[in-house]
Amino acid sequence: MLRSVTKILIASTLLGLSASVVFGDVFDFGERPLGTEENRRLAAYLAEQAQNMGYAAESLPFTCVRWERGASFLERGGVRVPLYPSPFSPAFDQTLDAAVASTTQQLKRVRGDGRLVFLRDELAKEPLTPRDYPFYFSALHREIYSLVDERRAAAIVAVTGRHPMYDESPFPLFNDANFKTPSGYISQESYAALLDAPRSKIRTVIKSKVYPETGEQWIFRKAAATTPAPGKILIFAHMDTAYNTPGALDNAAGVATLLLVMARLRDYAGPYDLEFVPFNGEDSPMARGEVTYLDRYRKEMPDIRLGINLDALGFRGAKVAVSTYNLDAVDQEYLDQQLSPFANLERGPEWVESDHSIFVFGGVPCLALTSADLANTVMTVAHTPRDTSANVDRALLAEAANFIAQLVTALK
Ligand SMILES: [Zn+2]
Repeated sequence: MLRSVTKILIASTLLGLSASVVFGDVFDFGERPLGTEENRRLAAYLAEQAQNMGYAAESLPFTCVRWERGASFLERGGVRVPLYPSPFSPAFDQTLDAAVASTTQQLKRVRGDGRLVFLRDELAKEPLTPRDYPFYFSALHREIYSLVDERRAAAIVAVTGRHPMYDESPFPLFNDANFKTPSGYISQESYAALLDAPRSKIRTVIKSKVYPETGEQWIFRKAAATTPAPGKILIFAHMDTAYNTPGALDNAAGVATLLLVMARLRDYAGPYDLEFVPFNGEDSPMARGEVTYLDRYRKEMPDIRLGINLDALGFRGAKVAVSTYNLDAVDQEYLDQQLSPFANLERGPEWVESDHSIFVFGGVPCLALTSADLANTVMTVAHTPRDTSANVDRALLAEAANFIAQLVTALK
């Protein structure tokens, strides 16, 4: 049984709606990476909700991969430590000599051929952007990938510590469905235990498997009262999660807010076309939903009057931070006026991540709503098993939805 029977009812007074809105469901889907059954069920649920509210719904299907991992380990001289498989790693079980590299210079010289190679320190200080990531790349990360390829290691194990952004330790260095060398990651403590173990070859067991799957990118629309519309307003929140997290704050919170905004705007009669998009791939290395959407609708980017991203807002005890991108002075002033009645919303600093980046780089005026003080709120739980709905204050989501509905309704 996927969904719990518990549903949170937000009173009509809070929303200013004539009817109550059922709102707890999106928190009940749990871990939902691309290609999983939970991901498909949430997509279907959102489509059903949108259609019940009278929105036109379009589905763009895509292909993707799903990953399953099992208990994995390294063993040397009778000492066994846990190994975390990299997402999408091939399976592996061999006993081999090992080599170590800490810098790109060392990685150029290390004897990798047919060995287990440990990557440490400078090479393992931050997660590597997937090689074929569609939206940006890092020259250093690309160099590490090509050096790793040249070394022709049989397997790679990264020794990682605390994630520089997320409170996740250890963290995966590789998260790339197209990286074909078996790989995993371990903690500094596990590495120290292996160094202390009696000298011998190291057995590496990686239990991991990928499956070809399908997913859907949904788009929900309401046409402007009169045609042709002068443009469209795009409101979006990513619906997928990383692996190994229930993804309540990141980003069931945004999806719940998206539904609330849709409920508030179902009778919108303003000049703009409205488009609501639960992007399906923000926490996946290939961003399949985003790419599928852009393949089809990139040409409409100049028509977007305003893009609004909802990602990880509503952390309990924190305000909702509204950051702006590509807004002119008139829009900035308009925004401040619209924000002033909302006690728990405030201006926040720019952050160039998440799905708004795609549109910001395309010159689209954008807002992004997240939780204030990212480092001490979102980053302490996001991408971890601790990202549960207990951290999310639903009243903050309702307030954010009210703000967006009012902003959109008044936008000339
Ligand atoms: Zn997110």
